[in-house]
Amino acid sequence: MDKIDVVIVGAGLSGLACAYKLAESDMQVIVVERGDFPGSKNVSGGRLYTLPIRAMVGDMLKDAPFERKIVRERWSLLGDGNSVEVDLTSEKFRKEDHSFSILRATFDRWLADRLMEKGVFVIPKYRVDDLLWEQGMVAGVKAGQEEIYAHVVVAADGVLSFMGEKAGLKPKMFPHNYALGIKEIIELPQEKIDDRFNVESGEGVAHLFLGDVTKGLFGGGFLYTNKKSVSLGIVVGINALMESKQNIEAHALMDMFKERYELKTLIRDGNLSEYSAHVIPEGGFGGISKLYGNGIILTGDAAGFALNMGVTVRGMEFAIASGIMAAETIIQAKEASDFSEKSLASYEKKLKETFVLKDLETCKTMPAFLDNESFFNFYPKCFPDLLEKVMWFDQMPKEGIGKTVWAHLKSSGMLNWKRLMELYRIKNL
Ligand SMILES: Cc1cc2nc3c(=O)[nH]c(=O)nc-3n(C[C@H](O)[C@H](O)[C@H](O)COP(=O)(O)OP(=O)(O)OC[C@H]3O[C@@H](n4cnc5c(N)ncnc54)[C@H](O)[C@@H]3O)c2cc1C
Repeated sequence: MDKIDVVIVGAGLSGLACAYKLAESDMQVIVVERGDFPGSKNVSGGRLYTLPIRAMVGDMLKDAPFERKIVRERWSLLGDGNSVEVDLTSEKFRKEDHSFSILRATFDRWLADRLMEKGVFVIPKYRVDDLLWEQGMVAGVKAGQEEIYAHVVVAADGVLSFMGEKAGLKPKMFPHNYALGIKEIIELPQEKIDDRFNVESGEGVAHLFLGDVTKGLFGGGFLYTNKKSVSLGIVVGINALMESKQNIEAHALMDMFKERYELKTLIRDGNLSEYSAHVIPEGGFGGISKLYGNGIILTGDAAGFALNMGVTVRGMEFAIASGIMAAETIIQAKEASDFSEKSLASYEKKLKETFVLKDLETCKTMPAFLDNESFFNFYPKCFPDLLEKVMWFDQMPKEGIGKTVWAHLKSSGMLNWKRLMELYRIKNL
């Protein structure tokens, strides 16, 4: 049976980055994608950190269709009818190409077109059903009656990775290892976005929300500004949703989120142009798959490379970096004519030397730390309530500010061992 060098399952960022790097060598590479076009099935909040991958990507992102450079960071605690917002503006972020908002339908398609120019076949509407095996080695993929034989299969097929599962590389996962993300793209004129979000043309905002957005369940909300739209969404833990006594559905949370005063004023007169939902890996370091086997490598979400750091979500630069490392490993394997598990093991070594496994390991206690309703219920209510009391003036004589603060902290339950322990545990993050 004739074999090509590599078949990549999934034209998301990890699959496309892998193909891009492989195209620099003299290899036969095919990328197959079940969606109508690359990017059509991909959901992301939409902020890509470019500094961690700058040295790896070469010219891959030259002239990339970035939406806006993120120069403002905002975090909101949404209470019951009130909220507190922290707004970070940074000249450093403005000077450096620190992070950008992107729209995956545009971005992934653009990258796939660049690949085609380099001679890589990217085949859309091609859903792989199974792996092909030869003497204990993965030997290609099968889609219906069609078969593609290859020396290496790259499973870049996203969070649920059936390829990784079929190869026996995925660990047993549970509902608390996943969250559900819902995202809307709301179109607004460019000047309106500049004005409403108080940014210069080409600059943008990343805004995260905690608290009432998920009605106290694990998760949060996000808003990223694009050129002529905002990406607005919520993320909610699947386990939290299943166990909630509130009997709430994710799409209802999204509707309630948009009805909040804080949101209404930002998206007013906007035009909903896209609605999507997707699963997100939340397992962190403990949710990483076995990364390689005989003739197969897992990249991006398929490998479990996504990191919820509480203050931000990172997955896309992990996807790109792991795709590139996978390609480098395969190039070396081809030179040695050895695509066995032993030969592909250098993939993990490479990842350990980069931010991918370093950052995931550093943050390995994060999923357990965040598995605490206080961050989604108690604190988001406590601080807006406190400031509301401090800033309230009526016909009654005003109590001293110190007394108001102290009484609130005491009555709200802020001053107890549980809270102290939560603070103490921050040092392990
Ligand atoms: C709501 C939400 C918000 C997020 N926000 C951010 C953010 O702001 N910043 C960030 O860095 N990350 C964010 N992430 C995470 C980020 O989107 C992912 O980590 C990233 O997209 C992973 O890329 P990937 O290439 O590994 O997988 P994907 O982008 O999921 O690509 C997998 C591809 O494989 C294809 N595929 C699957 N099965 C098959 C098959 N059998 N045959 C053929 N093709 C197949 C799919 O159609 C898809 O195109 C967010 C995720 C979600 C859901």
